[in-house]
Amino acid sequence: MSRRIESVVDAVGNTPLLRLRNVAPPGVEVYAKLEFANPGGSVKDRPALRMMRDALADGRLTKDKILIDSTSGNTGVAYSIFGAALGVRVHLVMPSNVSKARKDIAEAFGTEIIYSDPLEGSDGAIRLVREIVEREKERYFYPDQYANASNPLAHYHGTGREILEAVGDRITHFVAGLGTTGTMMGTTRRLKEHTRPIRCIAVEPDDALHGLEGLKHLPSSIVPPIFDAKVPDETRPCSTEAGWDMSDRLAREEGLHVGHSSGANVHVAVQVAEELAAQGKTGCVVAIVADRGDRYFAPLKWEKRYIW
Ligand code: PMP
Repeated sequence: MSRRIESVVDAVGNTPLLRLRNVAPPGVEVYAKLEFANPGGSVKDRPALRMMRDALADGRLTKDKILIDSTSGNTGVAYSIFGAALGVRVHLVMPSNVSKARKDIAEAFGTEIIYSDPLEGSDGAIRLVREIVEREKERYFYPDQYANASNPLAHYHGTGREILEAVGDRITHFVAGLGTTGTMMGTTRRLKEHTRPIRCIAVEPDDALHGLEGLKHLPSSIVPPIFDAKVPDETRPCSTEAGWDMSDRLAREEGLHVGHSSGANVHVAVQVAEELAAQGKTGCVVAIVADRGDRYFAPLKWEKRYIW
């Protein structure tokens, strides 16, 4: 059903759940929550918008301040779009060797890019943002998505609620990868309020130098302050190869061209479904599809740890 909206911010959320019939075993329902249907093309529209709105509401962000962060990926696209729509200036710090496509997307919305040392990778970009904010505290708003409660809240009020609306009582499992961990924290908290038991599974790359962009290997990373290890029921590893293979299968068998973190989530969702089927059980497994595959056509080749 078509609807009339007043601003691009009203197009965030209410993403569809797609039944995956071809990669999943018969008898177990597997669904992909299509977060690429958000206006910025990713799951990060939700937290970016909520962090901006919450900060505007309580005065941490005002129209004379500049939002600054260190992301060349999905969060940066989202800040840029909603900055334009809400009248907030946005500066993004990126290593100078990020692909032209990523600079172009941000600049299309009027975002200003500040370049950090390419040899220092994503850590250098984070350091530079912190230095800039430290120098001129009054001028900038730094959302710090790894520590910002609005990030998981966006998923609590959005992603989790919508999944329950779409599949209700039938859901038995939820699968999401860990980056800032906002998706897992917020969605799981909402799903766990439901009366029936639901098993929530976090997906983690199986090594530190992985190619599952958007995901963090927590054992070798700084653990985000918003992460609570008690929230997921289980964490399952996924190799780069398994995530990439499932992305290929989703394109060829379901007509769904997704990023590699989404391939990893669906890989684990199908693994869970196969285990249920082998035990003669039914189930309803929901996995997050965080973004589309075409965002990775011109990736950074040398720096594996991106900031999304
Ligand atoms: N996949 C992709 C493609 C992402 O950009 C992100 C964000 N880092 C994630 C997964 C992880 O989401 P979250 O930050 O909510 O843990």
